Amino acid sequence: MAATLYIDGAWKQASDGGAHDVHSPHDQRVVATVSQATESDVLDAITAARTSFDSGVFTSWSFAERSALVSKIADLLERDLKVIAKKESDDTGKRIIEAEYDIADVVATFRHFAALGVKEHDRKVDVGLAHVSSRIVHEPLGVASLIGPWNYPLLQIAWKVAPALVAGCSFIVKPSELTPQSAIALMHLIEEAGTPKGVANLILGPGSVVGTSLISDPRIDMVSFTGGLNTGQTIMKAAVATVKRLALELGGKNPHIIFADADVDAAIDNAVTAAFLHSGQVCSAGTRLIVERSIHDRVVNEIVRRAANIRLGGPEDLAAETGPLISKSHLEGVTRYVEKGIAEGATLLIGGKRSEMPEHADGWYFLPTVLDNCTTKMFCVQEESFGPVMTVEVFDTEAEAIALGNDTVFGLSGGLWSNDVAKAARVASALRHGTIWVNDFGPYRPQAEWGGYKQSGIGRELGEHGLSEYLEIKHIWTNNAPSKSGWFSDDKRGED
Ligand code: NAD
Repeated sequence: MAATLYIDGAWKQASDGGAHDVHSPHDQRVVATVSQATESDVLDAITAARTSFDSGVFTSWSFAERSALVSKIADLLERDLKVIAKKESDDTGKRIIEAEYDIADVVATFRHFAALGVKEHDRKVDVGLAHVSSRIVHEPLGVASLIGPWNYPLLQIAWKVAPALVAGCSFIVKPSELTPQSAIALMHLIEEAGTPKGVANLILGPGSVVGTSLISDPRIDMVSFTGGLNTGQTIMKAAVATVKRLALELGGKNPHIIFADADVDAAIDNAVTAAFLHSGQVCSAGTRLIVERSIHDRVVNEIVRRAANIRLGGPEDLAAETGPLISKSHLEGVTRYVEKGIAEGATLLIGGKRSEMPEHADGWYFLPTVLDNCTTKMFCVQEESFGPVMTVEVFDTEAEAIALGNDTVFGLSGGLWSNDVAKAARVASALRHGTIWVNDFGPYRPQAEWGGYKQSGIGRELGEHGLSEYLEIKHIWTNNAPSKSGWFSDDKRGED
Protein backbone atom coordinates (compact mmCIF):
# COMPACT_ATOMS: atom_id res chain seq x y z
CA MET A 1 0.00 0.00 0.00
CA ALA A 2 1.30 3.45 -0.94
CA ALA A 3 2.13 5.80 1.92
CA THR A 4 -0.73 8.31 2.07
CA LEU A 5 -0.06 10.50 5.11
CA TYR A 6 1.95 13.63 4.27
CA ILE A 7 3.83 14.94 7.28
CA ASP A 8 6.73 17.41 7.33
CA GLY A 9 7.35 17.06 3.62
CA ALA A 10 7.41 13.24 3.52
CA TRP A 11 4.91 10.53 2.56
CA LYS A 12 4.39 8.11 5.46
CA GLN A 13 2.45 5.04 6.51
CA ALA A 14 0.57 5.24 9.81
CA SER A 15 2.95 4.77 12.75
CA ASP A 16 1.13 1.54 13.70
CA GLY A 17 0.75 0.42 10.06
CA GLY A 18 -3.03 0.97 10.28
CA ALA A 19 -5.09 1.34 7.12
CA HIS A 20 -8.68 1.41 6.00
CA ASP A 21 -10.54 0.55 2.81
CA VAL A 22 -12.61 3.07 0.87
CA HIS A 23 -15.74 1.56 -0.69
CA SER A 24 -17.66 2.74 -3.75
CA PRO A 25 -21.21 3.78 -2.81
CA HIS A 26 -22.26 2.48 -6.24
CA ASP A 27 -21.30 -1.17 -5.81
CA GLN A 28 -19.33 -1.43 -2.55
CA ARG A 29 -16.12 -2.51 -4.28
CA VAL A 30 -12.90 -1.37 -2.58
CA VAL A 31 -11.64 1.62 -4.58
CA ALA A 32 -8.65 2.45 -2.38
CA THR A 33 -6.81 1.44 0.77
CA VAL A 34 -5.30 4.35 2.67
CA SER A 35 -3.35 4.84 5.87
CA GLN A 36 -5.30 5.57 9.02
CA ALA A 37 -3.32 7.97 11.19
CA THR A 38 -2.66 7.42 14.87
CA GLU A 39 -2.68 10.10 17.55
CA SER A 40 1.10 10.20 17.35
CA ASP A 41 0.91 10.88 13.58
CA VAL A 42 -1.51 13.72 14.26
CA LEU A 43 0.83 15.23 16.83
CA ASP A 44 3.74 14.91 14.37
CA ALA A 45 1.71 16.77 11.74
CA ILE A 46 0.86 19.55 14.21
CA THR A 47 4.53 19.81 15.24
CA ALA A 48 5.58 20.02 11.57
CA ALA A 49 3.04 22.75 10.83
CA ARG A 50 3.89 24.74 13.96
CA THR A 51 7.66 24.46 13.38
CA SER A 52 7.41 25.49 9.74
CA PHE A 53 5.22 28.48 10.65
CA ASP A 54 7.44 29.67 13.47
CA SER A 55 10.60 29.26 11.35
CA GLY A 56 9.35 31.84 8.83
CA VAL A 57 10.13 29.50 5.93
CA PHE A 58 6.83 30.44 4.25
CA THR A 59 5.70 33.56 6.07
CA SER A 60 8.81 35.29 4.69
CA TRP A 61 7.48 34.86 1.15
CA SER A 62 5.63 37.89 -0.22
CA PHE A 63 1.93 37.71 -1.10
CA ALA A 64 2.99 37.78 -4.75
CA GLU A 65 5.31 34.78 -4.30
CA ARG A 66 2.65 32.76 -2.50
CA SER A 67 0.07 33.71 -5.15
CA ALA A 68 2.44 32.44 -7.84
CA LEU A 69 2.65 29.12 -5.95
CA VAL A 70 -1.14 28.87 -5.80
CA SER A 71 -1.36 29.70 -9.49
CA LYS A 72 1.10 26.90 -10.24
CA ILE A 73 -1.00 24.46 -8.20
CA ALA A 74 -4.02 25.54 -10.31
CA ASP A 75 -2.06 24.67 -13.47
CA LEU A 76 -1.14 21.24 -12.06
CA LEU A 77 -4.76 20.59 -11.03
CA GLU A 78 -5.85 21.45 -14.56
CA ARG A 79 -3.24 19.05 -15.95
CA ASP A 80 -4.50 16.21 -13.73
CA LEU A 81 -8.20 17.13 -13.76
CA LYS A 82 -9.46 13.88 -15.27
CA VAL A 83 -7.34 11.65 -13.05
CA ILE A 84 -8.47 13.45 -9.89
CA ALA A 85 -12.12 13.48 -11.03
CA LYS A 86 -11.97 9.70 -11.50
CA LYS A 87 -10.71 9.27 -7.92
CA GLU A 88 -13.44 11.53 -6.58
CA SER A 89 -16.09 9.71 -8.61
CA ASP A 90 -14.81 6.38 -7.22
CA ASP A 91 -15.06 7.63 -3.64
CA THR A 92 -18.41 9.42 -3.87
CA GLY A 93 -20.20 7.31 -6.51
CA LYS A 94 -21.06 10.51 -8.39
CA ARG A 95 -20.98 10.48 -12.18
CA ILE A 96 -17.58 11.21 -13.71
CA ILE A 97 -18.96 14.20 -15.58
CA GLU A 98 -20.13 15.76 -12.29
CA ALA A 99 -16.79 15.05 -10.65
CA GLU A 100 -15.07 16.77 -13.61
CA TYR A 101 -17.25 19.87 -13.10
CA ASP A 102 -16.27 19.84 -9.43
CA ILE A 103 -12.53 19.66 -10.12
CA ALA A 104 -12.89 22.47 -12.67
CA ASP A 105 -14.43 24.47 -9.80
CA VAL A 106 -11.41 23.54 -7.66
CA VAL A 107 -9.12 25.01 -10.35
CA ALA A 108 -11.26 28.17 -10.45
CA THR A 109 -10.97 28.46 -6.65
CA PHE A 110 -7.15 28.31 -6.77
CA ARG A 111 -7.12 30.88 -9.61
CA HIS A 112 -9.43 33.22 -7.67
CA PHE A 113 -7.23 33.23 -4.55
CA ALA A 114 -4.04 33.54 -6.62
CA ALA A 115 -5.50 36.68 -8.21
CA LEU A 116 -6.70 38.03 -4.86
CA GLY A 117 -3.28 37.51 -3.29
CA VAL A 118 -1.56 40.02 -5.54
CA LYS A 119 -3.99 42.82 -4.69
CA GLU A 120 -2.85 45.40 -2.13
CA HIS A 121 -4.04 44.33 1.31
CA ASP A 122 -2.35 46.84 3.60
CA ARG A 123 -3.39 50.46 3.97
CA LYS A 124 -2.33 53.76 5.51
CA VAL A 125 -4.57 55.31 8.12
CA ASP A 126 -4.92 59.06 8.46
CA VAL A 127 -4.77 59.56 12.23
CA GLY A 128 -4.80 63.33 11.90
CA LEU A 129 -1.23 63.86 13.20
CA ALA A 130 1.47 65.06 10.79
CA HIS A 131 4.29 63.38 12.73
CA VAL A 132 2.65 59.93 12.88
CA SER A 133 2.49 57.33 10.18
CA SER A 134 -0.08 54.64 10.81
CA ARG A 135 -0.38 51.45 8.78
CA ILE A 136 -2.70 48.44 8.80
CA VAL A 137 -0.82 45.31 7.72
CA HIS A 138 -2.06 41.79 7.16
CA GLU A 139 -0.11 38.81 8.42
CA PRO A 140 -0.65 35.05 8.21
CA LEU A 141 -2.84 33.84 11.05
CA GLY A 142 -0.74 30.83 12.04
CA VAL A 143 -1.43 27.09 12.01
CA ALA A 144 -4.83 25.90 10.81
CA SER A 145 -6.69 22.57 10.86
CA LEU A 146 -8.69 22.26 7.64
CA ILE A 147 -11.42 19.62 7.99
CA GLY A 148 -13.72 18.67 5.10
CA PRO A 149 -16.89 16.67 4.34
CA TRP A 150 -17.57 13.94 1.75
CA ASN A 151 -20.14 15.52 -0.58
CA TYR A 152 -17.79 17.81 -2.53
CA PRO A 153 -14.55 16.48 -1.08
CA LEU A 154 -11.85 18.40 -2.91
CA LEU A 155 -13.90 21.54 -3.53
CA GLN A 156 -14.64 22.09 0.16
CA ILE A 157 -10.98 21.49 1.02
CA ALA A 158 -9.88 23.83 -1.82
CA TRP A 159 -11.94 26.69 -0.34
CA LYS A 160 -9.64 26.40 2.70
CA VAL A 161 -6.26 25.32 1.29
CA ALA A 162 -6.01 27.97 -1.46
CA PRO A 163 -6.57 30.99 0.86
CA ALA A 164 -4.43 29.43 3.62
CA LEU A 165 -1.51 29.16 1.16
CA VAL A 166 -1.96 32.70 -0.17
CA ALA A 167 -2.12 34.00 3.41
CA GLY A 168 1.07 32.13 4.41
CA CYS A 169 -0.44 29.81 7.00
CA SER A 170 0.81 26.31 7.76
CA PHE A 171 -1.89 23.68 8.00
CA ILE A 172 -3.08 20.12 8.43
CA VAL A 173 -5.75 18.89 6.01
CA LYS A 174 -8.17 16.20 7.12
CA PRO A 175 -10.65 15.08 4.45
CA SER A 176 -13.62 12.85 5.23
CA GLU A 177 -12.55 9.25 5.87
CA LEU A 178 -15.15 8.25 3.24
CA THR A 179 -13.55 10.29 0.42
CA PRO A 180 -9.79 10.74 0.96
CA GLN A 181 -8.37 10.14 -2.54
CA SER A 182 -8.65 13.60 -4.08
CA ALA A 183 -7.04 15.25 -1.04
CA ILE A 184 -4.08 12.86 -1.38
CA ALA A 185 -3.79 13.86 -5.06
CA LEU A 186 -3.90 17.57 -4.16
CA MET A 187 -1.16 17.13 -1.58
CA HIS A 188 1.10 15.56 -4.25
CA LEU A 189 0.57 18.66 -6.41
CA ILE A 190 1.24 21.02 -3.50
CA GLU A 191 4.54 19.18 -3.05
CA GLU A 192 5.32 19.23 -6.79
CA ALA A 193 4.68 22.99 -6.93
CA GLY A 194 7.50 23.57 -4.42
CA THR A 195 5.71 24.35 -1.16
CA PRO A 196 8.21 24.45 1.72
CA LYS A 197 8.43 21.35 3.91
CA GLY A 198 6.06 21.26 6.85
CA VAL A 199 3.68 23.93 5.54
CA ALA A 200 1.08 21.49 4.15
CA ASN A 201 0.33 18.24 5.99
CA LEU A 202 -2.27 15.53 5.42
CA ILE A 203 -3.90 13.36 8.06
CA LEU A 204 -6.40 10.61 7.21
CA GLY A 205 -8.90 8.81 9.40
CA PRO A 206 -12.28 9.23 11.11
CA GLY A 207 -12.82 12.46 13.02
CA SER A 208 -13.61 10.50 16.16
CA VAL A 209 -10.09 9.00 16.06
CA VAL A 210 -7.86 11.70 14.58
CA GLY A 211 -9.97 14.81 15.21
CA THR A 212 -9.46 15.55 18.90
CA SER A 213 -5.97 17.06 18.74
CA LEU A 214 -6.72 18.80 15.45
CA ILE A 215 -9.44 20.84 17.16
CA SER A 216 -7.96 21.24 20.66
CA ASP A 217 -4.14 21.26 20.53
CA PRO A 218 -2.91 24.66 21.79
CA ARG A 219 -0.48 24.91 18.87
CA ILE A 220 -3.41 25.17 16.45
CA ASP A 221 -4.54 28.79 15.94
CA MET A 222 -7.59 28.14 13.78
CA VAL A 223 -10.02 25.42 12.79
CA SER A 224 -11.78 25.76 9.46
CA PHE A 225 -14.47 23.13 9.22
CA THR A 226 -17.16 22.14 6.75
CA GLY A 227 -19.62 19.49 7.87
CA GLY A 228 -22.62 18.81 10.05
CA LEU A 229 -24.02 21.02 12.82
CA ASN A 230 -23.29 18.52 15.62
CA THR A 231 -19.62 18.25 14.66
CA GLY A 232 -19.47 22.04 14.39
CA GLN A 233 -20.76 22.33 17.95
CA THR A 234 -18.13 19.83 19.17
CA ILE A 235 -15.44 21.92 17.48
CA MET A 236 -16.70 25.15 19.08
CA LYS A 237 -16.53 23.56 22.53
CA ALA A 238 -13.02 22.24 21.92
CA ALA A 239 -11.84 25.65 20.69
CA VAL A 240 -12.86 27.45 23.87
CA ALA A 241 -9.83 26.61 26.02
CA THR A 242 -7.33 28.26 23.68
CA VAL A 243 -9.70 30.73 21.98
CA LYS A 244 -9.06 29.47 18.46
CA ARG A 245 -10.37 31.31 15.47
CA LEU A 246 -13.21 29.33 13.90
CA ALA A 247 -14.57 29.22 10.38
CA LEU A 248 -17.60 26.94 10.29
CA GLU A 249 -19.62 25.94 7.21
CA LEU A 250 -22.44 23.81 8.54
CA GLY A 251 -25.75 22.46 7.33
CA GLY A 252 -28.76 24.07 5.72
CA LYS A 253 -32.48 23.56 5.23
CA ASN A 254 -32.92 25.93 2.40
CA PRO A 255 -36.27 27.49 1.48
CA HIS A 256 -37.26 27.65 -2.17
CA ILE A 257 -40.22 30.01 -2.57
CA ILE A 258 -42.36 30.11 -5.72
CA PHE A 259 -44.85 32.97 -6.14
CA ALA A 260 -47.78 32.58 -8.53
CA ASP A 261 -46.54 35.50 -10.65
CA ALA A 262 -43.26 33.72 -11.49
CA ASP A 263 -42.16 31.99 -14.66
CA VAL A 264 -43.61 28.81 -13.20
CA ASP A 265 -42.16 26.39 -15.77
CA ALA A 266 -38.64 27.66 -15.13
CA ALA A 267 -39.27 27.59 -11.37
CA ILE A 268 -40.45 23.96 -11.51
CA ASP A 269 -37.45 22.86 -13.53
CA ASN A 270 -35.08 24.58 -11.11
CA ALA A 271 -36.94 23.18 -8.10
CA VAL A 272 -36.29 19.66 -9.40
CA THR A 273 -32.59 20.41 -9.84
CA ALA A 274 -32.34 22.20 -6.49
CA ALA A 275 -33.72 19.25 -4.55
CA PHE A 276 -32.38 16.24 -6.44
CA LEU A 277 -28.96 17.27 -7.78
CA HIS A 278 -26.33 14.92 -6.33
CA SER A 279 -29.29 13.15 -4.70
CA GLY A 280 -29.78 16.05 -2.30
CA GLN A 281 -26.30 15.68 -0.79
CA VAL A 282 -25.68 19.40 -1.16
CA CYS A 283 -25.52 21.79 1.81
CA SER A 284 -27.47 24.38 -0.20
CA ALA A 285 -30.01 21.92 -1.64
CA GLY A 286 -33.43 23.50 -2.12
CA THR A 287 -35.29 20.73 -0.35
CA ARG A 288 -37.87 22.97 1.36
CA LEU A 289 -40.38 24.01 -1.31
CA ILE A 290 -42.69 26.85 -0.26
CA VAL A 291 -45.29 27.45 -2.94
CA GLU A 292 -48.19 29.90 -3.32
CA ARG A 293 -51.45 28.02 -2.74
CA SER A 294 -53.04 28.94 -6.09
CA ILE A 295 -50.29 27.15 -8.07
CA HIS A 296 -49.61 24.30 -5.63
CA ASP A 297 -51.25 21.53 -7.66
CA ARG A 298 -49.68 22.54 -10.96
CA VAL A 299 -46.21 22.82 -9.40
CA VAL A 300 -46.32 19.70 -7.27
CA ASN A 301 -47.89 17.44 -9.92
CA GLU A 302 -45.20 18.42 -12.38
CA ILE A 303 -42.38 17.98 -9.85
CA VAL A 304 -43.68 14.49 -9.01
CA ARG A 305 -43.86 13.60 -12.72
CA ARG A 306 -40.30 14.83 -13.21
CA ALA A 307 -39.03 13.08 -10.06
CA ALA A 308 -40.41 9.77 -11.31
CA ASN A 309 -38.33 10.10 -14.47
CA ILE A 310 -35.00 10.88 -12.79
CA ARG A 311 -32.54 8.24 -13.82
CA LEU A 312 -30.25 6.97 -11.07
CA GLY A 313 -26.94 5.37 -11.95
CA GLY A 314 -23.28 4.93 -11.17
CA PRO A 315 -20.11 6.73 -12.28
CA GLU A 316 -19.90 5.14 -15.72
CA ASP A 317 -23.62 5.26 -16.62
CA LEU A 318 -23.78 7.94 -19.30
CA ALA A 319 -27.58 8.10 -19.17
CA ALA A 320 -27.71 8.57 -15.39
CA GLU A 321 -28.73 11.94 -13.99
CA THR A 322 -27.75 11.46 -10.35
CA GLY A 323 -26.04 8.85 -8.21
CA PRO A 324 -26.17 6.96 -4.92
CA LEU A 325 -26.09 8.16 -1.34
CA ILE A 326 -22.66 8.00 0.27
CA SER A 327 -23.14 5.04 2.61
CA LYS A 328 -25.45 2.42 4.04
CA SER A 329 -25.84 4.32 7.30
CA HIS A 330 -26.75 7.50 5.42
CA LEU A 331 -29.36 5.60 3.37
CA GLU A 332 -30.82 4.22 6.59
CA GLY A 333 -30.90 7.73 8.10
CA VAL A 334 -32.74 9.18 5.07
CA THR A 335 -35.24 6.28 5.21
CA ARG A 336 -35.97 6.99 8.89
CA TYR A 337 -36.32 10.71 8.12
CA VAL A 338 -39.05 10.02 5.53
CA GLU A 339 -40.83 7.58 7.86
CA LYS A 340 -40.83 10.21 10.59
CA GLY A 341 -42.28 12.79 8.18
CA ILE A 342 -45.12 10.45 7.24
CA ALA A 343 -45.77 9.66 10.90
CA GLU A 344 -46.03 13.41 11.59
CA GLY A 345 -48.70 13.81 8.90
CA ALA A 346 -46.84 14.53 5.66
CA THR A 347 -48.19 12.88 2.50
CA LEU A 348 -45.72 10.76 0.55
CA LEU A 349 -46.30 11.49 -3.15
CA ILE A 350 -43.37 9.59 -4.62
CA GLY A 351 -40.20 7.74 -3.59
CA GLY A 352 -39.55 7.30 0.09
CA LYS A 353 -37.47 4.17 -0.25
CA ARG A 354 -34.40 2.55 -1.67
CA SER A 355 -34.35 1.87 -5.43
CA GLU A 356 -35.37 -1.72 -6.18
CA MET A 357 -33.80 -1.81 -9.65
CA PRO A 358 -31.52 -4.87 -9.97
CA GLU A 359 -28.62 -2.71 -11.19
CA HIS A 360 -28.81 -0.70 -7.94
CA ALA A 361 -28.87 -3.72 -5.66
CA ASP A 362 -25.28 -3.30 -4.43
CA GLY A 363 -25.40 0.51 -4.12
CA TRP A 364 -27.00 3.05 -1.79
CA TYR A 365 -29.61 4.36 -4.22
CA PHE A 366 -32.56 6.25 -2.74
CA LEU A 367 -35.51 7.32 -4.91
CA PRO A 368 -36.30 11.03 -5.37
CA THR A 369 -38.95 11.73 -2.77
CA VAL A 370 -41.68 14.36 -2.35
CA LEU A 371 -43.52 14.90 0.94
CA ASP A 372 -46.60 17.13 0.59
CA ASN A 373 -48.89 18.76 3.21
CA CYS A 374 -45.94 19.64 5.41
CA THR A 375 -46.07 22.20 8.19
CA THR A 376 -43.31 24.24 9.67
CA LYS A 377 -42.99 22.41 12.97
CA MET A 378 -42.38 18.99 11.39
CA PHE A 379 -38.99 17.35 11.85
CA CYS A 380 -38.70 16.85 8.07
CA VAL A 381 -39.20 20.59 7.50
CA GLN A 382 -36.77 21.73 10.19
CA GLU A 383 -33.95 19.17 9.92
CA GLU A 384 -31.59 18.50 7.05
CA SER A 385 -31.95 15.01 5.49
CA PHE A 386 -28.97 15.49 3.15
CA GLY A 387 -30.83 13.17 0.78
CA PRO A 388 -33.26 13.53 -2.15
CA VAL A 389 -36.27 14.50 -0.06
CA MET A 390 -38.37 17.57 -0.91
CA THR A 391 -40.93 18.85 1.59
CA VAL A 392 -43.81 21.07 0.39
CA GLU A 393 -45.54 23.88 2.31
CA VAL A 394 -48.04 26.46 1.01
CA PHE A 395 -48.53 30.18 1.65
CA ASP A 396 -51.10 32.83 0.75
CA THR A 397 -49.31 36.13 1.33
CA GLU A 398 -45.85 37.61 0.86
CA ALA A 399 -45.49 38.04 4.63
CA GLU A 400 -46.33 34.39 5.17
CA ALA A 401 -43.76 33.31 2.57
CA ILE A 402 -41.07 35.35 4.33
CA ALA A 403 -42.06 34.03 7.75
CA LEU A 404 -41.85 30.42 6.54
CA GLY A 405 -38.55 31.05 4.76
CA ASN A 406 -37.06 32.37 7.99
CA ASP A 407 -38.60 29.78 10.30
CA THR A 408 -35.46 27.66 10.57
CA VAL A 409 -32.40 27.56 12.80
CA PHE A 410 -30.30 27.39 9.62
CA GLY A 411 -29.47 30.26 7.29
CA LEU A 412 -27.25 29.01 4.50
CA SER A 413 -29.20 29.81 1.33
CA GLY A 414 -32.63 30.32 -0.17
CA GLY A 415 -34.31 31.06 -3.47
CA LEU A 416 -37.41 32.84 -4.66
CA TRP A 417 -39.28 33.11 -7.95
CA SER A 418 -41.37 36.15 -8.91
CA ASN A 419 -41.70 38.43 -11.91
CA ASP A 420 -42.59 41.34 -9.62
CA VAL A 421 -39.21 43.04 -9.30
CA ALA A 422 -40.10 45.12 -6.24
CA LYS A 423 -41.57 42.14 -4.41
CA ALA A 424 -38.57 39.97 -5.26
CA ALA A 425 -36.26 42.65 -3.85
CA ARG A 426 -38.32 42.94 -0.65
CA VAL A 427 -38.34 39.20 -0.06
CA ALA A 428 -34.64 38.80 -0.91
CA SER A 429 -33.86 41.45 1.68
CA ALA A 430 -36.13 39.97 4.36
CA LEU A 431 -34.78 36.40 4.11
CA ARG A 432 -32.01 35.73 6.64
CA HIS A 433 -29.70 33.43 4.69
CA GLY A 434 -26.13 33.84 3.45
CA THR A 435 -27.01 33.48 -0.24
CA ILE A 436 -30.33 34.37 -1.88
CA TRP A 437 -31.09 33.46 -5.47
CA VAL A 438 -33.81 35.43 -7.28
CA ASN A 439 -35.32 33.57 -10.24
CA ASP A 440 -32.54 31.00 -10.00
CA PHE A 441 -31.27 28.40 -7.55
CA GLY A 442 -27.83 27.02 -6.87
CA PRO A 443 -25.10 28.85 -8.78
CA TYR A 444 -22.08 30.22 -6.93
CA ARG A 445 -18.80 31.76 -8.02
CA PRO A 446 -15.45 31.85 -6.18
CA GLN A 447 -15.47 35.67 -6.46
CA ALA A 448 -18.55 35.91 -4.18
CA GLU A 449 -18.63 35.14 -0.45
CA TRP A 450 -20.29 31.90 0.70
CA GLY A 451 -21.48 31.06 4.21
CA GLY A 452 -24.28 30.87 6.69
CA TYR A 453 -26.42 33.00 8.97
CA LYS A 454 -27.54 31.55 12.30
CA GLN A 455 -26.63 27.88 12.89
CA SER A 456 -25.37 27.39 9.34
CA GLY A 457 -22.00 28.64 10.46
CA ILE A 458 -19.52 31.33 11.32
CA GLY A 459 -17.53 33.38 8.83
CA ARG A 460 -17.39 33.29 5.04
CA GLU A 461 -15.44 31.31 2.48
CA LEU A 462 -14.60 32.49 -1.05
CA GLY A 463 -14.87 36.11 -2.17
CA GLU A 464 -12.42 38.51 -0.51
CA HIS A 465 -13.51 37.57 2.98
CA GLY A 466 -12.45 33.97 2.34
CA LEU A 467 -8.83 35.15 2.41
CA SER A 468 -9.32 37.43 5.44
CA GLU A 469 -10.26 34.38 7.51
CA TYR A 470 -6.59 33.28 7.33
CA LEU A 471 -5.05 36.68 8.12
CA GLU A 472 -4.34 38.63 11.27
CA ILE A 473 -4.66 42.40 11.15
CA LYS A 474 -1.94 44.48 12.78
CA HIS A 475 -1.88 48.24 13.32
CA ILE A 476 1.63 49.77 13.28
CA TRP A 477 1.83 53.33 14.70
CA THR A 478 5.14 55.12 14.11
CA ASN A 479 5.87 58.44 15.78
CA ASN A 480 8.35 60.24 13.53
CA ALA A 481 8.99 63.06 16.06
CA PRO A 482 9.29 61.28 19.42
CA SER A 483 8.55 63.39 22.49
CA LYS A 484 7.57 62.89 26.10
CA SER A 485 3.96 61.84 26.64
CA GLY A 486 3.51 64.44 29.41
CA TRP A 487 0.69 62.52 31.06
CA PHE A 488 2.23 62.06 34.49
CA SER A 489 4.14 64.79 36.22
CA ASP A 490 7.96 64.59 35.93
CA ASP A 491 8.30 67.00 38.86
CA LYS A 492 11.44 66.06 40.90
CA ARG A 493 9.67 66.71 44.25
CA GLY A 494 10.11 63.98 46.86
CA GLU A 495 13.37 62.61 45.43
CA ASP A 496 15.60 64.41 47.96
P1 NAD B 1 -19.50 15.47 9.43
O1 NAD B 1 -19.70 16.60 10.38
O2 NAD B 1 -19.95 14.12 9.84
O3 NAD B 1 -17.97 15.30 9.06
C1 NAD B 1 -17.23 16.36 8.47
C2 NAD B 1 -15.75 16.15 8.77
O4 NAD B 1 -15.54 16.29 10.18
C3 NAD B 1 -15.22 14.77 8.40
O5 NAD B 1 -13.91 14.91 7.89
C4 NAD B 1 -15.18 14.05 9.75
O6 NAD B 1 -14.25 13.01 9.81
C5 NAD B 1 -14.79 15.19 10.66
N1 NAD B 1 -15.11 15.00 12.07
C6 NAD B 1 -16.14 14.31 12.61
N2 NAD B 1 -16.09 14.37 13.96
C7 NAD B 1 -15.01 15.12 14.29
C8 NAD B 1 -14.43 15.56 15.51
N3 NAD B 1 -14.95 15.23 16.69
N4 NAD B 1 -13.33 16.31 15.46
C9 NAD B 1 -12.79 16.68 14.28
N5 NAD B 1 -13.29 16.30 13.09
C10 NAD B 1 -14.39 15.54 13.09
O7 NAD B 1 -20.21 15.93 8.07
P2 NAD B 1 -20.35 15.10 6.72
O8 NAD B 1 -21.38 14.05 6.94
O9 NAD B 1 -19.01 14.71 6.21
O10 NAD B 1 -20.91 16.23 5.74
C11 NAD B 1 -22.25 16.54 5.63
C12 NAD B 1 -22.57 17.85 6.30
O11 NAD B 1 -21.72 18.89 5.78
C13 NAD B 1 -23.97 18.34 6.05
O12 NAD B 1 -24.55 18.78 7.23
C14 NAD B 1 -23.78 19.48 5.07
O13 NAD B 1 -24.82 20.43 5.10
C15 NAD B 1 -22.49 20.05 5.51
N6 NAD B 1 -21.87 20.83 4.43
C16 NAD B 1 -21.89 22.20 4.53
C17 NAD B 1 -21.34 22.98 3.50
C18 NAD B 1 -21.37 24.49 3.58
O14 NAD B 1 -20.79 25.12 2.71
N7 NAD B 1 -22.01 25.10 4.57
C19 NAD B 1 -20.77 22.35 2.40
C20 NAD B 1 -20.77 20.96 2.33
C21 NAD B 1 -21.32 20.21 3.36
